[in-house]
Amino acid sequence: LDRMDALEPSIRAFVTRADEQALNQAREMDRVGPGADSPATKPLWGVPLVIKDVLTTRGIRTTCGSKMLDNFTPCFDAEAVTRLRDAGAVILGKVNMDEFAMGSSTENSAYNTTANPWKLDAVPGGSSGGSAAAVAARMGFAALGTDTGGSIRQPAAFCGVVGLKPSYGRVSRYGLVAYASSLDQIGPMTLSVEDAALLLRVIAGHDPKDSTSADRPVPDYPALLAERADLAGLRIGMPEEFWGEDGLEPDVAEGCRQATALAEELGATCVPISLPHTPYAVAAYYVVATAEASSNLARFDGVRYGFRDKDAQDLIEMYRNSRSKGFGEEVQRRIMLGTYVLSSGYYDAYYKKAAQVRRLIQQDFLAAFERCDVICGPVTPTTAFGMGEKTSDPLQMYLTDIFTISLNLAGLPGLSLPVGLGKRSGLPVGMQIFGPAFREDLLLQVGHVLE
Ligand code: GLN
Repeated sequence: LDRMDALEPSIRAFVTRADEQALNQAREMDRVGPGADSPATKPLWGVPLVIKDVLTTRGIRTTCGSKMLDNFTPCFDAEAVTRLRDAGAVILGKVNMDEFAMGSSTENSAYNTTANPWKLDAVPGGSSGGSAAAVAARMGFAALGTDTGGSIRQPAAFCGVVGLKPSYGRVSRYGLVAYASSLDQIGPMTLSVEDAALLLRVIAGHDPKDSTSADRPVPDYPALLAERADLAGLRIGMPEEFWGEDGLEPDVAEGCRQATALAEELGATCVPISLPHTPYAVAAYYVVATAEASSNLARFDGVRYGFRDKDAQDLIEMYRNSRSKGFGEEVQRRIMLGTYVLSSGYYDAYYKKAAQVRRLIQQDFLAAFERCDVICGPVTPTTAFGMGEKTSDPLQMYLTDIFTISLNLAGLPGLSLPVGLGKRSGLPVGMQIFGPAFREDLLLQVGHVLE
């Protein structure tokens, strides 16, 4: 808490601090002790964590970075939060994000802009920018983030921390305020691969409250890390669409190439592969994601909960004003886009087409995994960019997700691993490791050997 007091004025990672609750919880834990079965059942006993403000927390305000939910204090915990608490974690507070997780820099938050701890006038990435900045600045040992199109991996790369986007269905989305339900996943953002393995083991697994959560056993990820000391026999796919030098900042290209060279020294073989539909991923994503968002965000109507405009004269005006004043510009843009692509006469041309492209992208990955065990590439084309640099051009902002988005469309797991600082920028560089569905164990092993 002292560290938060010292650093928050310059980092601004938190939307809501929960100092009181955290202290009370910690005192109570000191009083009762962890019990005889700890650490087996309570592997996070007393570990202070921070939670992205899109996950509900009982008794702690949950804003989703939006004015719409400024006054919303949930009466229940998200399943992932429940599992963290059951494992003994202490929640320090809720961290900043782009409004409803729409963005790549955390500049779309209705609350504040969060600084990148490595360079205070650079963005921390987004939408889980508060999570990444808090962990990088050691305000909390780890964070939960969410990833719909890169929001765990990209901020992790910009802030030099580990970020894991699990396979779709690996972690229950119960209590995650939905952005695009067929893409959203919750995952850990941590200081080491070992910590990511530990957190994933705690939060993963079937939950009857989320019908899309997978009913399959959760491997003992931390124990499995010890089973691999090198990368002998591992085939790493190198997609030509990710490694083309044009459009890739030299710092990023060098950092990632050094990491794959190290992998080869440790016994891996790099094989060239192609994911030919990559150029269509951003376009398909922004159709699918906005379509789902327009539907999910229909519930914020000023009637049931959240912000309500008090001046409206009739019901329609109340809806309109509440949504116009409660939602920020980017959220409104996406609701309009999503409503448009789903509307009669346009559905076949846009939404259906995007769904078809999505299938082709999935097939690209299936074909690639016939020839390799994991796929490596940069997380982002550049290191962290400056605040305000891309805010005036939404398309420029959308293109920052070019390497992260296809993974969500395919539902696969991806690990963002810090691979050092760029020689020119002095800023962190991240490399992604993709794997087949439910092979988080393999990604964590490879990441652990390389880190
Ligand atoms: N930047 C992407 C978007 O704005 C991804 C966000 C996310 O993963 N939540 O939609």
